[in-house]
Amino acid sequence: MTVPLITLNDGHTIPQLGFGVYKVDPIQTERIVTDALEVGYRHIDTAALYQNEEGVGAAIASSGIPREELFVTTKLWNSDQGTQSVFDAFDASVEKLGLDYVDLYLIHWPRPDLDRYVETWHAFEQLRDSGRVRSIGVSNFQRGHLERLVAESDTVPAVNQIELHPAFAQVELREFGESIGVRTESWGPLGQGRYDLFGEPAVAAAAQAHGVSPAQAVIRWHLQHGIIVFPKSNARERIAENFDVFGFELTADEVAAIDAIDRGQRGGPNPDTDVF
Ligand code: NAD
Repeated sequence: MTVPLITLNDGHTIPQLGFGVYKVDPIQTERIVTDALEVGYRHIDTAALYQNEEGVGAAIASSGIPREELFVTTKLWNSDQGTQSVFDAFDASVEKLGLDYVDLYLIHWPRPDLDRYVETWHAFEQLRDSGRVRSIGVSNFQRGHLERLVAESDTVPAVNQIELHPAFAQVELREFGESIGVRTESWGPLGQGRYDLFGEPAVAAAAQAHGVSPAQAVIRWHLQHGIIVFPKSNARERIAENFDVFGFELTADEVAAIDAIDRGQRGGPNPDTDVF
């Protein structure tokens, strides 16, 4: 099973399908990430917030997989936006991960009320220039936040990781990102259980037509839109199921039917207004 590689705007490549570890219990993280690596995942998405970077690092260390075959993303938490605080938070993350470098470092939320994301971005540029981070990007940035970064720095973010699933498809933000060279990553790709995505007739019909699960049909929908996706599960069976998505292809009609589920309704926080 070969996961497609996507080339980012800085020339680095990222496996289009990865494994996310939000809400994976720190105690169980090493075992669960080990399962994912055994299944074949080579891209892991974590964050300082998740408090499980140590478990991710332990699984990587014991896997024996060469570092260059892995793609590891982590994220800067909101309270660490700034300059020196970024360097300190980054040091803490790489130490927990046990890595010399991370492949992708993201500003987790813009938090426009702090007005520090441009300063933070300049610190990210320094980390990238030092070689300790290969690619830098953002998460939960709205169009206006992206425009400001582009206007006030020399670096277009490699990715924007946003809430995105068939019920909140973010077409405008995706298209804007594409127009300036930002690749979109989807978080909550299966709807985080907030929506009955798997019960949607378009998803159920596509799954049935291909003899796959609704989750597999939804993951294909992300992949066929060119989006980078990293579903999460604690269960090895589902971890394997979510990786087994390269033996079928949705038809254009099936993709369009799933597109039509979009309600434009966010499940998670609003990046412009919510403070946390
Ligand atoms: P998700 O949409 O991947 O949903 C995960 C849930 O879906 C699981 O807990 C499980 O209950 C269910 N599930 C998984 N596989 C299934 C299957 N095959 N069949 C049936 N149910 C299944 O939600 P998520 O974990 O929040 O998002 C994925 C990743 O995105 C996270 O782990 C994290 O890495 C990232 N994320 C980032 C942000 C951000 O602000 N940047 C926010 C949330 C998540």
